[in-house]
Amino acid sequence: MAYKINDDCIGCGACAAECPVGAISEADGKCVIDASACLDCGACAGTCPVGAPQAE
Ligand code: SF4
Ligand code: SF4
Repeated sequence: MAYKINDDCIGCGACAAECPVGAISEADGKCVIDASACLDCGACAGTCPVGAPQAE
């Protein structure tokens, strides 16, 4: 299981700052989650202003 950031992402970077394992990086103005590193903790979803990180 991992979270995935959908197209609603506005690239604010708030989720990357909260991720405990540094699984979130930015590419082309949006953030992406490295599924192999994600712990499924949900911190990114709790921080995102637009609800872009979704549990898969
Ligand atoms: Fe990082 Fe947790 Fe979000 Fe996975 S669910 S990307 S570990 S903050
Ligand atoms: Fe995108 Fe939400 Fe992360 Fe901001 S907090 S970079 S809008 S996923």
